[in-house]
Amino acid sequence: MKTEVDFYEIDDLFTNEHKLIRSSVRDFVVSQITPIIEDIAQKAVFPLDMPKKMGEMGLFGCTIPEIYGGSGLDYISYGIMMQELERGDSGMRSVASVQNSLVMYPIFKFGNELQKHKYLPNLASGKILGCFGLTEPNHGSDPNGMQTRFVEDGDFIVLSGSKMWISNAPIADIAIVWAKDNQDRIHGVIVEKGMEGFSAPEIKNKWSLRTSITGELVFDKVRVPKSNILPLKNGLGAPLMCLDSARYGIAWGAVGVAIDCYLTAKKYALERIQFGKPIASFQLIQKKLAEMLTDITKAQLICWQLGNLKNKGKATTAQISLAKRNNVEIAIHIAREARQILGAMGIVSDYPIMRHLTNLESVITYEGTHDIHLLILGKEITGIQAFC
Ligand SMILES: Cc1cc2nc3c(=O)[nH]c(=O)nc-3n(C[C@H](O)[C@H](O)[C@H](O)COP(=O)(O)OP(=O)(O)OC[C@H]3O[C@@H](n4cnc5c(N)ncnc54)[C@H](O)[C@@H]3O)c2cc1C
Repeated sequence: MKTEVDFYEIDDLFTNEHKLIRSSVRDFVVSQITPIIEDIAQKAVFPLDMPKKMGEMGLFGCTIPEIYGGSGLDYISYGIMMQELERGDSGMRSVASVQNSLVMYPIFKFGNELQKHKYLPNLASGKILGCFGLTEPNHGSDPNGMQTRFVEDGDFIVLSGSKMWISNAPIADIAIVWAKDNQDRIHGVIVEKGMEGFSAPEIKNKWSLRTSITGELVFDKVRVPKSNILPLKNGLGAPLMCLDSARYGIAWGAVGVAIDCYLTAKKYALERIQFGKPIASFQLIQKKLAEMLTDITKAQLICWQLGNLKNKGKATTAQISLAKRNNVEIAIHIAREARQILGAMGIVSDYPIMRHLTNLESVITYEGTHDIHLLILGKEITGIQAFC
């Protein structure tokens, strides 16, 4: 039950249930993800049976009440799940983040009872997979400028436009699409696979997040029943609330990757002999390992306290930005340092480092870029918004 990297005995703060969740997700990752991950990353394929397995494992709908098929867990449990999943692979964690925070969360928060009962249990079990369409070809950091629109036509809306860089898009059964009405108000709309005029072509040749399928969403006058609009919140605040929830999971996930890189580098440094001694005996290698442990410990403490704030409903957007930005930055730095410790072996898939490193290049950009999170903090400190 004890975790391998716990320098400040943060484990004592977790409940037995948290620790049990951690060890069962760890077992799931070791048995279902680790054996295939390097191969599927090299081939850039997503195992289509994975959503069902993740659903059975309780990795979807973690914080959603049981009446809708979820597990009704607290936010620290959700964080722990994302940490252990991302320790396996950021692409796998991305699939779970999207399903939990970007698909189930908006249906739960902004949907009506009919929509909740129709979609949430199937999403929780992994029977169906969802995606979240906010980013567009011409609007990434500036989603308010989105061009995807709909007009009303009787009991239907007619949706036109396109979304870009959408995780899960080509394999998703439903898409939560953010689009403007004729008064420029943003609404969440549930678009189902197979609706006429809707397509989701794959974006190929990614060097990053190769185990997570990414695509476009194209709407060519798609007729969607009005009953598929999420009625309880509109405006940009709605998708931003979803992103807060997903970024929270990323902050924990980044700790998982950092731990995997640190442990891999530590083991390698103790075993690799140069100049007649393990490279771990050289001061410069020890410096790297010491700094990795320091950064991981600080990131763990951030996650713990942010989880408590989230459980109390008090975590602010700026607090979440700080955690996502800091933890992904330390993870990418640790991955780079670990790659150096492994020398040439750091670039091959005998070890997870290079896969983690290239994955993190997406993680540092999606769900708000590194610099946009810095500017969110800048606004929090000064009261002045510097990004528009
Ligand atoms: C693998 C992957 C999966 C993704 N999955 C999804 C998904 O499921 N759903 C979804 O909606 N989106 C998704 N995204 C999109 C992601 O959220 C965007 O890439 C991100 O928001 C940045 O937008 P952009 O790429 O258009 O960059 P841009 O917004 O064009 O930014 C380019 C650069 O300019 C900087 N910049 C922009 N504006 C400012 C400013 N005002 N001040 C200072 N610097 C600025 C940025 O920080 C960045 O460095 C995904 C992206 C990737 C790579």
